[in-house]
Amino acid sequence: MTPATSRAPHAQVAIVGDGVGALITWGVLRAAGLAATDMVVFGDAPAPLARLERCATAIEQRRMRSEGQGHLRPLDTPRLAWVELWRRRTLWPLWLALWQRYTPPLDLLLDDTRAWAEQSGFWQQRVPTRIAAVERSALNRFVLRDQQQELVGSARHVVLALGYPGLAWPAALCAWRQHPCVQHAYAEHQFSAADHVVVIGGGMAAAHLWSAALQRGAQVTALHRHPLRRQFLNAPRCTFSAVGLDAYQQLEPAQRRQFFANLGAASFPWRLSWEWQRWQAQRSGRFQSRTDRVVALAEPSPGHLCLSLASGATLAATKVICATGFEQNMLRHTLIAGLVERYGVPQRDGRLLVADDCTLPQLSQPASICGAVGVLSRWALPIADTFMGMKYAARRLQPLLMQTQAG
Ligand SMILES: Cc1cc2nc3c(=O)[nH]c(=O)nc-3n(C[C@H](O)[C@H](O)[C@H](O)COP(=O)(O)OP(=O)(O)OC[C@H]3O[C@@H](n4cnc5c(N)ncnc54)[C@H](O)[C@@H]3O)c2cc1C
Repeated sequence: MTPATSRAPHAQVAIVGDGVGALITWGVLRAAGLAATDMVVFGDAPAPLARLERCATAIEQRRMRSEGQGHLRPLDTPRLAWVELWRRRTLWPLWLALWQRYTPPLDLLLDDTRAWAEQSGFWQQRVPTRIAAVERSALNRFVLRDQQQELVGSARHVVLALGYPGLAWPAALCAWRQHPCVQHAYAEHQFSAADHVVVIGGGMAAAHLWSAALQRGAQVTALHRHPLRRQFLNAPRCTFSAVGLDAYQQLEPAQRRQFFANLGAASFPWRLSWEWQRWQAQRSGRFQSRTDRVVALAEPSPGHLCLSLASGATLAATKVICATGFEQNMLRHTLIAGLVERYGVPQRDGRLLVADDCTLPQLSQPASICGAVGVLSRWALPIADTFMGMKYAARRLQPLLMQTQAG
């Protein structure tokens, strides 16, 4: 137990992280009646959607993958479809929403989120600090330390909404990350007709980058470890349903691990414009798709790369883009590694084994809990790193976070 000092501000709820998960949790607690002044948010982002916006802009994503209710406000209304209907004076968004085929424009989501963060008092309660440690200090009390181990706050309850700890790279390319011709999908890109671009990965980011490179006349090779998969959402729709979630939460740990293994590889939605563009490019020899794995990279001459593949084949390229998503090992978060070490929070292969109510029992007390939303709570619900998943986690935690009684 760390002795508490009176200087650090005390809150009912401290939210560590200031991104999507933090704003969603904030909104659910505000809607449940918790005052903005009873909460504090710690984070260093310039805006709640800063990371998402940066990534989406890098892959030239202009429409989200989720649907009308894919916004950060607490209620599940197809709000964005209505707003777009009004903005564009067309019924089309609502018609698509009826068939669960509406996807909101990124700029609409950004505007709506910015307005909600202001309206709900999120920004006013944010402290622009990264938290390095969360410690149980006394009955019903946590203390939070910054990267200089200074005490920056205390709270009855803590919610961890940290997101991913970083970007994921293919093992064979880790040593090439600084090379000008090797980039991650979420970094800025320039493509030209002189380029032969190899995009590694088979998900949403890869599909956007195939399209962006083809649009600029480049030759594109899609390199992916598993056969390409088309799927409207980033997980089977049943996993977004109460029935699907109940079925998942009945599974034993070994079955859950198998479930994650079966959840399978990345996927991207079927879009007529993409299918047509790739079909035309394939016919003119500018697009090919290969199921294989890169095992080594070489640069026989400046600006000319050669990828060695697991099948023994090689691939020439002028640019290699790793659309390989985010680091999945949550222990890469210093804060999480500290909780695992100090409080024995269980983890397996870098995934936190949170309880199904999204709490961390090893740190929680009957009236003072530590919970997690976003990718940190994926063990409790496989769709945790989606807007819908974060709303589910925040709603499960809400009654626990509203507790004020002694004991
Ligand atoms: C391009 C892209 C498109 C996506 N589209 C969709 C979509 O359409 N629908 C959907 O449901 N999901 C979508 N997602 C998935 C998901 O919603 C996002 O990844 C979302 O940003 C995750 O929110 P988060 O709060 O977990 O993490 P983030 O948004 O990354 O926020 C975490 C924040 O916490 C801060 N932080 C981290 N550690 C600390 C610390 N120790 N102390 C203080 N602050 C800290 C970070 O700096 C960051 O600001 C998309 C993701 C990407 C990348």
